[in-house]
Amino acid sequence: MSHNDLPLLLFGDQLGPHFRTGHEHRQVVLVESMAALRRKPYHRQKLHLVLSGLRHLAAELGDRAVVLTSGTYRQALRDLGRPVVVFEPSSHAAQALVDRMQAEGLVAEVLPSPAFALSRAEFARWARGRERFLMEDFYRDQRRRFDVLMDAGEPVGGRWNFDADNREAPPSGTTRLGMPEPWWPEEDAIDASVRRDLDAWSLPTVGRDGPRLFVITRQEAVQALRRFIDERLRSFGPYEDAVLARDWTMAHSLLSVPLNHGLLQPLEVVRAAEQAHRETGLPLAGVEGFVRQVLGWREYVWHLYWHYGPDYLEHNRFGASMPLPDWWMELRPGHIRAACLRTALEGVRERGWVHHIQRLMVLGNHALQRGYDPKALNDWFATAFVDGTPWVMPVNVIGMSQHADGGRIATKPYLSGGAYLNRMTDHCRGCWFNPKLRRGDRACPFTAGYWAWLDRHEQLVAGNHRMARAVQSLRRLDDIAAVAEQEAERDVF
Ligand SMILES: Cc1cc2nc3c(=O)[nH]c(=O)nc-3n(C[C@H](O)[C@H](O)[C@H](O)COP(=O)(O)OP(=O)(O)OC[C@H]3O[C@@H](n4cnc5c(N)ncnc54)[C@H](O)[C@@H]3O)c2cc1C
Repeated sequence: MSHNDLPLLLFGDQLGPHFRTGHEHRQVVLVESMAALRRKPYHRQKLHLVLSGLRHLAAELGDRAVVLTSGTYRQALRDLGRPVVVFEPSSHAAQALVDRMQAEGLVAEVLPSPAFALSRAEFARWARGRERFLMEDFYRDQRRRFDVLMDAGEPVGGRWNFDADNREAPPSGTTRLGMPEPWWPEEDAIDASVRRDLDAWSLPTVGRDGPRLFVITRQEAVQALRRFIDERLRSFGPYEDAVLARDWTMAHSLLSVPLNHGLLQPLEVVRAAEQAHRETGLPLAGVEGFVRQVLGWREYVWHLYWHYGPDYLEHNRFGASMPLPDWWMELRPGHIRAACLRTALEGVRERGWVHHIQRLMVLGNHALQRGYDPKALNDWFATAFVDGTPWVMPVNVIGMSQHADGGRIATKPYLSGGAYLNRMTDHCRGCWFNPKLRRGDRACPFTAGYWAWLDRHEQLVAGNHRMARAVQSLRRLDDIAAVAEQEAERDVF
């Protein structure tokens, strides 16, 4: 039976133009589901973005759009009175819902998602027969398959990987990188309606409301991409891993929100970066670093989300079971003395966004050292960040950041002491703690926490050759028992 004349239901993260190509004749159904908005304590600005995106798309589509404001998706489709066609949803929970709606006749057909360069069927073919899914192997095949930064079958510049060139410490003597600003959206009457509704609904949100900082329409996304490629990408590579307390964007693209809402297609993004390298000579190291993130990491975490399935969330290699503290959950970092941790949590509270190194080496590192429950942490990242989605988290949080999967994703835990943070950030200069100290009132919680964590888990990591030096250094510490005791009792961070 042909479903060609049935309406297309778009979920809140499927707002892009590529979802419409070939579907121009269809009505588009958009649902503002109160049950979905209320499900968890999301960041207020995250809910704003979702509603703003849906309403802007509805306004753009005019008569083609049918907006349903029902309690649940199922109720909305029952009210609609016609089955719909949908694209593959982006989470296990949404998949279960679609399966159920299909069984009930509310969904007639599920189309493959065009939101990623590689389809799930192609990934399944790639994964067949492999025991390990190394990101580097996946990434190189992505480059070959989509012919990105390739010359006659070889990587442009003769190298696949420029990571080593992309790890500069922040420039000294300055508090900002001095980059041209990202492209900022301007709020309009639709944003005002969203803000009014969110005020009236009193949902269980976290974080502050504030001006909309992230792009959420196709038109905005295209402008933000252009500005990044033309003016900011040149500094993305070298300072990718650096943190300056007063420069929250550094040279990052801020494109995860439009990418995760389907407003930009990953291939369009990486081809724009490649073109800038080929036509304007933008340095290859930075361009390759950016392509690696979008065509490599992003696609890799999406496919492994489906490949590993929901059970992956249950991994807990280090038996970490500490509940996330209230000040963390509620984004109240006021009493935190460690400048790096306070700044990162303040960033989450103010914007629902901090950049990769703050997520991995500050927030994730702290959580690992303090033994926070990895699954609860995974959930927290998904709700507190404006770009948080169920699919992006497991590999990043359970795998990369917490090493809870025992090394399926990363060869060693992303654990570091204050020395790393002192080198890669400008936080330590004005911090109450001293990154060189592991004992006493001023002992840096990251430095002391590093040794205490190694001491607790020495047996589990001793066999990992990438941890060998750290374990040897641990064994030379004559005060480790005192450090471990101090950290077990620490309540000042
Ligand atoms: C603990 C932790 C939590 C994270 N949570 C999220 C999240 O909620 N949503 C999210 O999209 N990314 C997440 N990431 C990945 C990465 O930190 C963000 O994509 C990035 O910080 C978003 O900012 P940006 O758009 O300026 O990225 P840029 O630094 O400019 O990078 C460009 C793009 O590459 C992609 N990318 C880069 N690294 C990754 C990665 N590891 N996984 C997936 N995509 C990647 C993103 O789409 C990003 O927009 C997380 C990483 C860690 C370690």
